[in-house]
Amino acid sequence: MTSLQQPRSHQKAKALKPGSRRPAKALCSECGLCDTYYIHYVKEACAFLNEQIANLEEQAHGRSRNLDNSDDLYFGVHQDMMAARKKEPIPGAQWTGIVSTIACEMLNQGIVEGVVCVQNTKEDRFGPMPVLARTPEEVLAARVNKPTLSPNLSVLEEVERSGMKKLLVIGVGCQIQALRAVEKQMGLEKLYVLGTPCVDNVTRAGLQKFLETTSRSPETVVHYEFMQDFRVHFKHEDGSTETVPFFGLKTNQLKDIFAPSCLSCFDYVNSLADLVVGYMGAPFGWQWIVVRNDRGQEMLDLIQDQLDTQPVSSKGDRHQAVQQSIPAYDKAVTIPMWAAKMMGVVIERIGPKGLEYARFSIDSHYTRNYLYVKRNYPEKLDNHVPDFAKRIVAQYKLPD
Ligand code: FAD
Ligand code: SF4
Repeated sequence: MTSLQQPRSHQKAKALKPGSRRPAKALCSECGLCDTYYIHYVKEACAFLNEQIANLEEQAHGRSRNLDNSDDLYFGVHQDMMAARKKEPIPGAQWTGIVSTIACEMLNQGIVEGVVCVQNTKEDRFGPMPVLARTPEEVLAARVNKPTLSPNLSVLEEVERSGMKKLLVIGVGCQIQALRAVEKQMGLEKLYVLGTPCVDNVTRAGLQKFLETTSRSPETVVHYEFMQDFRVHFKHEDGSTETVPFFGLKTNQLKDIFAPSCLSCFDYVNSLADLVVGYMGAPFGWQWIVVRNDRGQEMLDLIQDQLDTQPVSSKGDRHQAVQQSIPAYDKAVTIPMWAAKMMGVVIERIGPKGLEYARFSIDSHYTRNYLYVKRNYPEKLDNHVPDFAKRIVAQYKLPD
């Protein structure tokens, strides 16, 4: 900087010290914004202090979602949706590695100079370590979910210092909401945003409790996912797999592990990313792609020839299963494993599939989270719950 240049106003702000109380207090999802001088904008930018999805949709996609269109209501603004998988999956990726492949291709083709993503710490395979990756190798080292709160935005100061003008950010909904709110202050020429859905995230300690109460061998788990067949699939170091039916989870012990931020989040589908890559709207084994705008399509086009694709489909009716799950979760009902396995087999055969499975998961989580906010933060209920979530929740009868 020459002596004539003044730092931008946010550069004069001071990041909070690690471990200090965050402005969103117990609701902080540790998105990383407050670890940088962008804390200057926290009151407006934090997803838990200022819900503004509709405004930011307008900014990012040119319109906010149409609440009278059922796919928009559930999945957000989009211009295309499909199921896809890589013809040659990346070993060790969470699913088939579509996210990592897009990021590598964007670096290889010089479309971006850097990628914000999250590797793991040396000591802990699930310990999040956000990085500004400059090479495909550094992106690949970030593959697979770190299923814990992760301060991805903590590298934003490094981005500005680096002088990069074209950037890709990979992240989950709360990180992306804060990013969109400060996007204009970052001095970039082009920002691409590649999102994943996210739900039920936990602190590192909460993750340990989940692994210890659910897996036969918690210390050897390298990967897990709540899959479309209503089972949690664990993969272990020796390559073996283990499945546990959702209905067999020890709900009474697990109820408290989810982070308060995630119990009050209504952006499961990452509404503000250009492109979203998940799995829950796709058949078992496939990934689910939501293209929100032209920039998202541009990213997907880069790897189209490496993908098998098929149209999305939808089967079944989720409503009864969701309605029954509301009091069961509320009372933390835990059923014996033999009964859970039987229920799992039946629901897999007759239960919701494809987009209906995604709606099942969205309904179950939004009703649970609505109750959580109503009981714990009644003063926030009206402003914090977006209109689309209020409409979704209104389909069900909730306990007080
Ligand atoms: P990979 O190529 O393996 O890349 C994974 C990318 O995720 C990496 O670039 C990494 O930087 C990023 N990442 C890893 N951990 C985090 C984190 N904690 N915060 C931000 N970014 C991270 N999809 C659904 O359809 N339904 C769900 O309920 C669902 N829940 C999820 C919960 C969490 C906590 C996360 C992180 C993801 C979730 N997803 C969900 C997305 C899904 O599990 C896959 O991440 C997605 O399909 C991409 O798979 P992939 O093989 O293409 O990713
Ligand atoms: Fe700051 Fe992010 Fe926590 Fe909000 S969620 S208080 S922006 S670190």
